[in-house]
Amino acid sequence: MTTRINHWISGAEKPSTSGRTSAVFNPATGQPTAEVGLAGLEDVDAAVASAHEAARDWRTTSLSRRSAVLFAFRELLHNHSNDLAAVVTAEHGKVLDDAAGEVARGLENVEFATGAPHLLKGGFSEQVSGGVDVYSIRQPLGVVAGITPFNFPVMVPLWMCANAIACGNSFILKPSEKDPSASLFLARLWKQAGLPDGVFTVLQGDKVAVDGLLVHPDVAALSFVGSTPIAKHIYETGTSHGKRVQALGGAKNHMLVLPDADLDLAADAAVSAAYGAAGERCMAISVVVTVGDVADPLVEAIAARLPKLRIGNGADPDTDMGPLISSEHRDRVVGYIGSGAEAGASVVVDGRDEDVPAEGFFLGTTLLDRVTPEMSVYTDEIFGPVLCVVRTDTYDEALKVINSNRYANGTAIFTRDGGAARQFQFDVEVGMVGINVPIPVPVAYYSFGGWKSSLFGDTHMYGPEGVNFYTRGKVVTSRWPDPGSSQVDLGFPRTR
Ligand code: NAD
Repeated sequence: MTTRINHWISGAEKPSTSGRTSAVFNPATGQPTAEVGLAGLEDVDAAVASAHEAARDWRTTSLSRRSAVLFAFRELLHNHSNDLAAVVTAEHGKVLDDAAGEVARGLENVEFATGAPHLLKGGFSEQVSGGVDVYSIRQPLGVVAGITPFNFPVMVPLWMCANAIACGNSFILKPSEKDPSASLFLARLWKQAGLPDGVFTVLQGDKVAVDGLLVHPDVAALSFVGSTPIAKHIYETGTSHGKRVQALGGAKNHMLVLPDADLDLAADAAVSAAYGAAGERCMAISVVVTVGDVADPLVEAIAARLPKLRIGNGADPDTDMGPLISSEHRDRVVGYIGSGAEAGASVVVDGRDEDVPAEGFFLGTTLLDRVTPEMSVYTDEIFGPVLCVVRTDTYDEALKVINSNRYANGTAIFTRDGGAARQFQFDVEVGMVGINVPIPVPVAYYSFGGWKSSLFGDTHMYGPEGVNFYTRGKVVTSRWPDPGSSQVDLGFPRTR
């Protein structure tokens, strides 16, 4: 019998009522392993109604009680990290160690959120006028929803739900239908941690579920992470329905290599950041921009490393790189390699020729040199194990390439020159910058987000900006007058 993956509503699994389903695959075998029930509008209403009711009590729950639930959740997540990583590998395909890394980075967001009592402290100004005090407080929004991509089925939901819940909201997760099982794993841990039913909900589904949440009057805010066209749709539709929205989109991350860079360090970093998780990371390096004569030796050093990568089932601890998420996506990536070659890029290493397991959605690693900014392999997010090299003569030319790209999620510079690195940090129009660090994902106490077409909305995700996103400010002006000195005064209140 086919395993059915359900919603999680009011603290228990609930089947979808729509009758629509989607197959879930193990990308390493190419075989379907389960079916996920896709929400219809009736399911959306049930999920929101349960979350709405739960939000009323949860916002009245004391900060220390909320914090205690987060500490318990943190412990459970830590203790079940390996099991959760295995669930991710079985549906996403990334290698176990990488999946464990994703759980570990997500855990840091939970640790940050345990500090909610401190994070939600307001300000207080005594005696702004005679006998008048002013203070600010932050209050939860109510029901908030998170719509997440396939490539981080644990970390991205934790970016959102840890802060949302700590701030006193109830949270509805709409995970990717491609790897939905991790969401139910998280739901069970929240319940075990003592979170009241309805505060964490999982709504399985596709566009129907998302569009239902986007217009539902009882959903106050939406966080989205996924591709740029959908991020734009979410932002425009959500905000036009009066909701607060943060929508993170796609990426094309450049690694700038200056002539003085340590070549081995740069080549190791490029290979790790381009081919880790088969390139299916929003912070993957997909373009190396070389300056001057570093190009030839760097391309050679990267190419020399690729045959050593072991491609196979991510569940095998000896594997370096797993499969892509689906056969359709693999075919799309293969198409890009062909179009890059046709457009004049030189195919230094061709992933189409690599000997990879016949079962499953595997593709070898590709290195394209002499790519130019008009080619589709450069303009489009490929989201696969394909690294492009753009050669430039000067730093200024390289900077222009990076700043002209429509995406602006992450970037990195490799150099030994501190002054050059500082200049790049100042000049580059990208939201997250690494200096000799290829994947500069900020730690949980900073916030994550790109610029331009990589982010729609004003607020970055998690960290302090996440706390602001999931709360709204209120300022109270208060006086406890002495009844003996009270009098009528029709003038506008002054402070001096
Ligand atoms: P996607 O945009 O296809 O899907 C993301 C979510 O949106 C899923 O939950 C999906 O069910 C839903 N969705 C898909 N089509 C929809 C539609 N027409 N209307 C409403 N909802 C829809 O993205 P994906 O393929 O799951 O993930 C890969 C993408 O996510 C890449 O572009 C990657 O760069 C991006 N990403 C960005 C970040 C970031 O932080 N900026 C992080 C991770 C992934």
